[in-house]
Amino acid sequence: MSETQSRRVAFVTGGSRGIGEAIVHSLAANSMHVVAVARNSEKLAALVAGMTAAGLSVEALSVDVADGAALAAAIEQTIEKLGRLDVLVNNAGITRDGLFMRMEDRDFDDVINTNLRAAFVACRAAARAMIRAKWGRIINIASVSGIIGNAGQVNYSASKAGLIGMTKSIARELAGKQVTANCVAPGFTTTDMTDVLPPQIKDKVLEIIPLRRFGTPVEVAQVVAFLAGDTAGYITGQVIAVDGGMSM
Ligand code: NAP
Repeated sequence: MSETQSRRVAFVTGGSRGIGEAIVHSLAANSMHVVAVARNSEKLAALVAGMTAAGLSVEALSVDVADGAALAAAIEQTIEKLGRLDVLVNNAGITRDGLFMRMEDRDFDDVINTNLRAAFVACRAAARAMIRAKWGRIINIASVSGIIGNAGQVNYSASKAGLIGMTKSIARELAGKQVTANCVAPGFTTTDMTDVLPPQIKDKVLEIIPLRRFGTPVEVAQVVAFLAGDTAGYITGQVIAVDGGMSM
């Protein structure tokens, strides 16, 4: 028998570092109980210890989102244990960059599985509890690459454009139940994902960002926190770019 959490419950994939860590922090700071998901359990344990010490309500689950059965089970167990699931943030994402003429099938499939298929599995598993509650927020983290494309990222931009189309369709299917679904599309944001870029590439990137700087995880997380709250209840099927103007 589950004991229903009095706080709203948010499930955030890729919640151990970068943008996901900032999202976990923002939602918990808005009085939600947050389940942070990633593969590295040590990193998750450190995050939970730090946030709990700061008075935030956070727990961790070590799950590989590319394993659809494990991801669906994690969501079902969360709903069973906590009695509700109000907010789903599909943030876990990977890159396997390379020019498309030389791209291996495996690099295409891995990126689609982690960035797109996992989000589909998670949305389907989470939607039932939201529909039952007649309240829910699905927020999928897309990318500027899914809007304008990016040379060297056919797999990644396909996964993110797919996420945008999927989110709009889910928004249409669930609108009647007061469940919203939106995308947040970051541009270049300072995290482990972009730290690996060579300095000369970073300089080139800065030239195409109208605001002439990389974004921060907190700038993305604040938009997610807004979309996850009551005041965003009339926003659905949208893509909010947080990209320094790159996609305008
Ligand atoms: P990051 O620093 O590389 O962090 C990725 C997070 O996802 C980590 O918590 C990682 O933890 C988790 N993760 C990766 N693969 C996973 C898997 N198979 N199962 C479970 N968790 C997994 O990335 P980020 O820069 O914060 O990016 C977060 C999201 O924003 C991604 O969807 C990314 O595509 C998107 N985005 C980022 C940028 C940017 O410039 N940084 C721009 C546009 C969009 P583990 O490794 O422990 O699993």
